[in-house]
Amino acid sequence: MSHFDESPAPTRNLAEQEAALASAASFAHLLSKLDYLEAADIELVRSAYRLADAAHAGQKRQTGEPYITHPIAVAEQCTVWRLDASAIIAALLHDTMEDCGVSKTDIAEKFGGAVADLVDGLTKLDKIQFATKEESQAESFRKMLLAMARDVRVILVKLADRIHNMRSLHLMKREKRERIARETMDIYAPLANRLGINSMRMELEDLAFQYIAPDAYNDLTAKIVKSNEARNRYTEEVKNIIQQEMEKYSVACKVEGRAKHLYSIYKKMHEQHINFDEVYDLIAFRIILDADKEKSCYEVLSIVHALWKPVPGRFKDYIAMPKANNYKSLHTTVIGPYGERVEIQI
Ligand code: MN
Repeated sequence: MSHFDESPAPTRNLAEQEAALASAASFAHLLSKLDYLEAADIELVRSAYRLADAAHAGQKRQTGEPYITHPIAVAEQCTVWRLDASAIIAALLHDTMEDCGVSKTDIAEKFGGAVADLVDGLTKLDKIQFATKEESQAESFRKMLLAMARDVRVILVKLADRIHNMRSLHLMKREKRERIARETMDIYAPLANRLGINSMRMELEDLAFQYIAPDAYNDLTAKIVKSNEARNRYTEEVKNIIQQEMEKYSVACKVEGRAKHLYSIYKKMHEQHINFDEVYDLIAFRIILDADKEKSCYEVLSIVHALWKPVPGRFKDYIAMPKANNYKSLHTTVIGPYGERVEIQI
């Protein structure tokens, strides 16, 4: 990086000063999320930021922001999962090998072999390109899983990278947008699901859905906005009924009702050949018990089934048979207070 050291200190123009301020502000925000790391590790993160900032100097994102705000945002997503210092550093450096000619040796010397391997793994994942769609899906999925078997942090940083890029996908060229959205739907959303990060799966699916089937997406969004108020009232009502019934039997629990994400509603309409007005279970209700109360879940189930008639064939026992990602719960669908189908997870 000799050209950074040798050049005389340049006078910065206004745009450069603004970019520097924006970068510093977003790094300060990242720092505020790092309190779970040791002081020495935070120093390493600072030094990774300085390296990435110098390497990406002058580059801009499609949004017009300085490029460095992207790796910072990726690192910040990693702090939500409380990933270790190596992963945070790799997130900050994840685009430096590809775009800025920083070498694996440079990174290994400054941050150790583990970080260098992570950044290298991330760079390699980016380079996978395939001739056909089928090949692309099967092959890159296989490579991902291989990489994951070696170090799951590579996949987590990659997911953080993907979600940040998906959030600004509208600024990309149409053709690129569709390819990335398709890849997100086929590969990254299922990976997030496999790792048990459900909130990320839903956001990835909804973001990708928007570009894969824009008409259906807009249509559905408009209908949901229109029915919003009535739906909120309905949600409160059902929640209250469940809550009261649980109190009657002295079951300590929390009841939640939340709108399902758009893509799952769309899938349901598509698979069952029904239109929006026929999708009754737009809201998934959850009855949440403490982790050590697995047996009580069955008791809660019997209370719910005594209150509202269950729909035959809709009961699933993920406590006896947990999902591959170790998700444990009981799912049932019942006929609710208005004769509508209500989906309940316990
Ligand atoms: Mn990136």
